[in-house]
Amino acid sequence: MISVIVLLGVLLGLITQVDLLPVKNSTEIQESKARLKRKYSDEMPDFDEMTAMDQILEVNSKLRAPRGLSIKEGDIAFSYVRSAINCPGNACLWPKSIDGFVYVPYILSPLYDDMDRITIETGMQDISSGSCVKFVPRTHEASFLDIQPRYGCWSFLGQTGGSQILSLQTPGCMWSGIAAHEFMHALGFVHEQSRSDRDHYVTIVWKNILPDHIHNFRKQVTNNLNSPYDYSSVMHYGRYAFSEDGGPTIIPKPDPYIPIGQRDGPSALDLHKINVLYDCGANE
Ligand SMILES: [Zn+2]
Repeated sequence: MISVIVLLGVLLGLITQVDLLPVKNSTEIQESKARLKRKYSDEMPDFDEMTAMDQILEVNSKLRAPRGLSIKEGDIAFSYVRSAINCPGNACLWPKSIDGFVYVPYILSPLYDDMDRITIETGMQDISSGSCVKFVPRTHEASFLDIQPRYGCWSFLGQTGGSQILSLQTPGCMWSGIAAHEFMHALGFVHEQSRSDRDHYVTIVWKNILPDHIHNFRKQVTNNLNSPYDYSSVMHYGRYAFSEDGGPTIIPKPDPYIPIGQRDGPSALDLHKINVLYDCGANE
């Protein structure tokens, strides 16, 4: 019953989007403190500071959506042609097996070299080792991830049914944290700062956002799985995501200096949320 509620909540959350009015509040002081004199598009944050999402946006900066698809929030693919009746919002969960594991079959493009494979499999392993989700090479399954080095790093949201492309360009997307990020989209997770309750935890600095990318900061009515807001989620945008002039677009509150986002892989809370969403049972 709980899993049904969770599923309904997620489905509802993912198909309902709430437009936000621009917010102007008392962050001016924090902003000026945190503002850095650099141009986002020319000078990304120092390499050591880059989050998985920073690198994804860098790689995807010239990405044009493949035919029949649109890309939202920088790296989430949506199909125009897909029936919304079968799979509202493309947000289906992968089915749970009778043995308690959730098997996500995949095929890996032969275009990847051994190092690429290790990186991608590390991203899978980082999710599998902390949850009941297991990525398995496809044998006969009808629904599976078709992992390819297309242009950019992107994924559909949840299981779409049938073959679904998950693009990890090489070498741009060849970080295990990026692979884990895209796999989490494929498991049904949106970006952390899209959460319905995000305004309690971060300030979105609307005036610093590239005008064409305001929509990438929409809140969604998400099922937050009773989990705390996670600044260190691998699904969190970086502080300067879609910045127009180098100013921050996301400022944590109340402490503006809390680090946000990272590149290593799923955080403990990311894994917790996977376990809750997929009703993994143990340790919950
Ligand atoms: Zn993403």
